[in-house]
Amino acid sequence: MKPKEEEITRFMHKGSDFINEEEIEKLLEENKNPPKSKLKDIIQKSLSIQRLDPDETASLLSVKDRDLWKEIFEAAGEVKKRVYDNRIVTFAPLYLSNFCVNSCLYCAFRKENTKEVRRRLTLDEVKKETEVLVSLGHKRLIVVYGEHPLSDIDYIAETIKTIYATKVGNGEIRRVNVNASPMPVEKLKILKETGIGTYQVFQETYHHQTYKKVHPAGRKSDYKWRLYSMHRAFEAGIDDVGIGVLFGLYDWRFEVMGLLYHTIDLEGKFGVGPHTISFPRLEPAANTPFIQESKYKVSDGDFKKLIAVLRLSVPYTGMILTARESPQIRREVIPLGVTQTDASTRIGIGAYSDRYDEQEGERQQFLLGDTRTLDEMIRELALNGYITSFCTAGYRCGRTGKCIMQLLKTGEEGRFCKLNGVLTFREWLDDFASDETKKIGEVIIEKEIEEIKEKIPQFFSKFMEYYQRIKSGERDLYF
Ligand code: SAM
Ligand code: SF4
Repeated sequence: MKPKEEEITRFMHKGSDFINEEEIEKLLEENKNPPKSKLKDIIQKSLSIQRLDPDETASLLSVKDRDLWKEIFEAAGEVKKRVYDNRIVTFAPLYLSNFCVNSCLYCAFRKENTKEVRRRLTLDEVKKETEVLVSLGHKRLIVVYGEHPLSDIDYIAETIKTIYATKVGNGEIRRVNVNASPMPVEKLKILKETGIGTYQVFQETYHHQTYKKVHPAGRKSDYKWRLYSMHRAFEAGIDDVGIGVLFGLYDWRFEVMGLLYHTIDLEGKFGVGPHTISFPRLEPAANTPFIQESKYKVSDGDFKKLIAVLRLSVPYTGMILTARESPQIRREVIPLGVTQTDASTRIGIGAYSDRYDEQEGERQQFLLGDTRTLDEMIRELALNGYITSFCTAGYRCGRTGKCIMQLLKTGEEGRFCKLNGVLTFREWLDDFASDETKKIGEVIIEKEIEEIKEKIPQFFSKFMEYYQRIKSGERDLYF
């Protein structure tokens, strides 16, 4: 079905979209040698949890001086701490179908890849996959679908309902986020009805010409249909939306500017920006030669820079790092402002319940950099001072969209998150942790309880009541 023009054009300004390439190039050019004093002011603005303007982000992106980059990295870590403290949210991706009508040159699921083994999970298989993830202690999933009539909105809705209905002992999935193709408003309303958390669509590249080149055919070749998918989501009532770029398709500085303009346009039209930003880097994929040919691959050094600049540019937005990256890179970039990451990840269709080598190429979209289990990941995070939060209270209490952003900006949400972070970590340690991880986790919990007593005394007694009830076996108590 061809998209209705009106579902694109009504968001445009005098016939143009919000990515003005000339303006972006000009800003990057004009700010090539930003004075130190300007940079210090920009960092201060960000530390006061205000979104930066394009001119300011362009200045950060153009810094050459190593010492200034050091300051930027430190400030990014500080912003993260002020808004999200030492919490990291974890989730698992669940790939449900790899049938696809599109021709994205970088993806192993593209229609032309005849070597890809295609599969769509039945509802029974969805249940089995969910059971495995629940048994590991996951509470949040991101479900991922190729674009195909076999994975249309009815299939998406049925699979999400199946996931929410799956229980294993005390365990269940409490938040399902969705990464699926752009949809018209009427289908997005059905998606909203299923009770999803965040709806993600990555633009992949904001550069028009590059977009056309890497999406030569299929529905995805329509840049604007994709660009306004989050605008339609807001209209459908979904106010937690996730945007992203597939870094490595075009110049990374341009793409960071694109993400900022996207944020600004959403803020302008709906009063709130994206709930999350994702920044995957292009990874090798089986039978996908384009990846070796791309001349815009992002080095590890530039990857750190783009994460830090994003953190400073949109201080209150969640930032998602995935297992595409190696354990070493994850260690290095988490302190720069990451708020969410996945663990025990498998991206083959049916890969959690079917035992097979997770690096086998022909059943998955790309190759993973980090295959550590959730337990290992949590242990390492705890050793580095992070508490893993399984909190899913926000959207279940109506703290979404504009409301949650306001609470984050003022530090209010941080309080709820801290309390819920500790309660859900307690649950996880008791239900799922290995002995070693539990030992290390207890140290973090002790420290958190002390901080709650000191910093949020008004909630302390209620918190301790919930904490003790959870220790005695009750579950899913939250603020
Ligand atoms: N089909 C839907 C779409 O394209 O929006 C959703 C699923 S797609 C499998 C999810 C994301 O995977 C894409 O948006 C893209 O950014 C990312 N991706 C595709 N190929 C990749 C690769 N080779 N390396 C890293 N990420 C990749
Ligand atoms: Fe299909 Fe999405 Fe892969 Fe493109 S990125 S081929 S749309 S699954």
